[in-house]
Amino acid sequence: MSDEEEALALAARAGIHRLAIPTPFQVGRVNAYLIEDSPLTLVDSGPNSAKAMDELERALAAHGRAVEDIELLIVSHQHIDHFGLASILARRSGAEVAALEELAPYLASFGAQAESDDLFAQRIMLRHGISADVVTALRAVSASFRAWGAAVEVTRPVGDGGELRLRDRTLKVLHRPGHSPSDTIFLDESRGILLAADHLIKHISSNPLLARPLDAGPDFDGPRPQALLTYLASLRETRAMDLSLVLSGHGQPIVEHKSLIDERLRLHSRRAEKIHGLLQSRSRTAHEIAHELWGNVAVTQAYLTLSEVLGHLDLLLADGRVREQEQDGVVRFTAT
Ligand SMILES: [Zn+2]
Repeated sequence: MSDEEEALALAARAGIHRLAIPTPFQVGRVNAYLIEDSPLTLVDSGPNSAKAMDELERALAAHGRAVEDIELLIVSHQHIDHFGLASILARRSGAEVAALEELAPYLASFGAQAESDDLFAQRIMLRHGISADVVTALRAVSASFRAWGAAVEVTRPVGDGGELRLRDRTLKVLHRPGHSPSDTIFLDESRGILLAADHLIKHISSNPLLARPLDAGPDFDGPRPQALLTYLASLRETRAMDLSLVLSGHGQPIVEHKSLIDERLRLHSRRAEKIHGLLQSRSRTAHEIAHELWGNVAVTQAYLTLSEVLGHLDLLLADGRVREQEQDGVVRFTAT
């Protein structure tokens, strides 16, 4: 048995089964987790699509279960590949829906929130050097993606540090923002098993996506949230935990979370150094930096790479190694 199969078998013995659900996004499949306990629990659901529903139903059936049997649905964070089906599942099963309390208003009014997120992203992109036609194209893409999400009412809001009690286990609920403002991880403390969603993924570095703060109004235009700094602080908190297994929102389980987190921390500091090096020859916009690092990326990736670069610029700004100057509505960064 490979390490990964062994890890999944260990999870299965603890009653936790990975269900890999298809998504139309570049990330590929998303992992939902069925927890055989009372209440019968599903962590995340997949996007709102007939294909995802069909595969979820078949995956549940492989464990002798149906949608109607689900009693508790847990939402890990605000991304549609994770919660898109939650509303339909809750309606069909009558399940309670649990999520971080700060995330509940967002999920309840998903359509309006997504619209505000797009406005926020649009302003960020224009301010950091992405051309108006690319921004317009991205807005259209983003609006079409919205159909894979759907508003859902959270019936069991939980605070950071709170608990979800099941018959055979207690899940500790921990807020670990960074990849998104609402990232929540769920710790089965007695077994050392962590359901980490997109907070930590084995095969890809989780994107610290620049997002509107959860408590911000619809027209939020305040200071740029420091997603990468927030994410690194969250990663360090997770590194300090003693865990036997991490189950992620995408891909394979993680056994050695501390060494994986160390690898990620090194990656981010290397990337910050590289960006600092680029800025020594001349000042640049964040978009120009992204272009230097990754070349012509697909239009749909422009916001992801911009978020990545801005996150590293925030690290350099915090260390006083870069300064930021806005002129005619466009921001440029210079090495100090
Ligand atoms: Zn995500």
